[in-house]
Amino acid sequence: MKNIFKKKLFKVNSKVRVYVYIFTIFFTIIFLCIIYLSHQNRILLNTIKYYYPVVNNSKIITELDFQNDDSITKFVNNKVSFNNLSYIPSDLESISSTYVFDSKWNSRLRSEANLALQNMAKDFYNYFWKKIVVVSAYRSYLYQVWIKAWWCSDIFCAKAWFSEHQTWLAVDLWEASSKEEFLSKQELVTYFNWLKNNAYKYWFNNSYQKWLEVDWYNIEPWHWRYLWLPLAKKLYDNNQTFAEYYHSNN
Ligand SMILES: [Zn+2]
Repeated sequence: MKNIFKKKLFKVNSKVRVYVYIFTIFFTIIFLCIIYLSHQNRILLNTIKYYYPVVNNSKIITELDFQNDDSITKFVNNKVSFNNLSYIPSDLESISSTYVFDSKWNSRLRSEANLALQNMAKDFYNYFWKKIVVVSAYRSYLYQVWIKAWWCSDIFCAKAWFSEHQTWLAVDLWEASSKEEFLSKQELVTYFNWLKNNAYKYWFNNSYQKWLEVDWYNIEPWHWRYLWLPLAKKLYDNNQTFAEYYHSNN
């Protein structure tokens, strides 16, 4: 009697065990499907999601302004300078370190650009599980003078008073001394490709992509400039650089 009961119990147990296995496998598959689909959905969402930074003193821009030092579409390059040598905007912030690694410690940007950078870095982090590395942001007139004192030529380093870094809207991401060095690192190429396809949604544009004839600078895959969204999107859609657009409209 006892043996029969044990056998029955064993049979029941083995059946339960089989059910447990089946359910475990089933729920694992469902769980993995949910993770996969949510990841795909995030990619899909990323293709249609734009960020609109909201800051107290943000101005609503209704047209492009390439001339005013304070405009987020102010154009500068080696032949176009700021109007004011010591231009400094009023809305400045240290770059937050939640999703960005600030290798220079107290790097600063205008608050609007900082917020956009944080939004971009958050999505970048969720995708790669890595922080975006900022190696340079705002550079003052005097700091640029110091850089130029090291015999950095005009095609590598902007002249002081002519640098996009003085807009407080530009960042250099990841350390590299040349385009070749940057692109020789597979990890950086992967990051660059993600930024190339997504940065405009956060109002950023890679300023120097087309060599001297177009941009008047060497190609710099690390240099990203915050711009007005419609312009950043237009440049992305038309595969244009800011300099190319500026020269075709001035
Ligand atoms: Zn730069």
